[in-house]
Amino acid sequence: MSTAVTPDVPSQEDTMMIRAAVMTELGRIEVQERPQQEPGPHEALVRLRAVGVCGSDTAYFTVGRIGDWVVDGPIVLGHEAAGQVLAVGEEVTGVDVGDRVAIEPGTPCRQCGECMAGRYHLCPDLVFLATPPYDGALMETMVIDARNLHRIPASMSYEEGALVEPLSVGIWGCKRAGLEPGDDVLVTGAGPVGLLAGAVALAFGARSVAVTDPSEFRQGMARDLGLGVDDGTGGQDFDVLLECSGAKGVLAQGLRRLRPAGRAAMIGMPKEELVGLPLSQLNVNELSLSLVNRYNHTWPLAIALVASGRVKVDSLVTHHFSLAETADALTLGSRVTDSVKAVIHPDR
Ligand SMILES: [Zn+2]
Ligand SMILES: [Zn+2]
Repeated sequence: MSTAVTPDVPSQEDTMMIRAAVMTELGRIEVQERPQQEPGPHEALVRLRAVGVCGSDTAYFTVGRIGDWVVDGPIVLGHEAAGQVLAVGEEVTGVDVGDRVAIEPGTPCRQCGECMAGRYHLCPDLVFLATPPYDGALMETMVIDARNLHRIPASMSYEEGALVEPLSVGIWGCKRAGLEPGDDVLVTGAGPVGLLAGAVALAFGARSVAVTDPSEFRQGMARDLGLGVDDGTGGQDFDVLLECSGAKGVLAQGLRRLRPAGRAAMIGMPKEELVGLPLSQLNVNELSLSLVNRYNHTWPLAIALVASGRVKVDSLVTHHFSLAETADALTLGSRVTDSVKAVIHPDR
């Protein structure tokens, strides 16, 4: 059942050209034309409608690396994406032409030990959008394994579909922290992931969620999501710490505020390689610390949380951009203090 829109072997003049925002060098984006790809048997062709800008995109754009991932050639950024299916390969069963989908950006090999153990996010051969050397989603159409596509209901916007990716980080962080109903939760850092992790904690039944962030604008965003704001002076104790700032010393400070048997998750990439931790206190109080690398099978839950209105992701989107404005979107955080999430619309 092949429903490809374009012929299998297009002639030179029949080849559809699409626009892609290519990072040609550090700090430079060029919108280039490239041939539209054809989906293979298990793949789908998707028209991108919304792509969120992540801190990782900005890091690749401004400094060219995140940890061991180094940009060493032209790359298309963007991994928080949603769109509409234009064509599917003959083996595809999960989605159909016309479906509106949120895109899971990591394609695992589906055969190695980690994949077979269900930990596909730790697959050593994971192909992840906008992670060197792989291109991301800042283009008009892209081909991706159809098993990475998750249908979103008509009530959900493409923007909300794109934000399922950072929401997934929040979900996986709460799961890794062993969050339970009734927990008092401290979230350090109210960027998009911190705000969404806090909102997920509430949806998971936390008794209270407090975030710390120096920005009054972001504190206001937290309140809009029903989260409390903690001034960091240490009045209250918590059961769970979700560290989302990556800033120096914050993990150790947060751990000191956990009750006995407290649980912490370090979400995202720490900015410092070596951190000092109060091990004697962790030991005496039997604290546990989980590290978090992206997510595993979170899309269905994330879509359900958004579709049911339990987590409101759209309030995080403060700025919108067209594909030609990609560079502005990537530098938004450093230019505009009162900003949280930029969304690029590749069809504009
Ligand atoms: Zn992201
Ligand atoms: Zn694998």
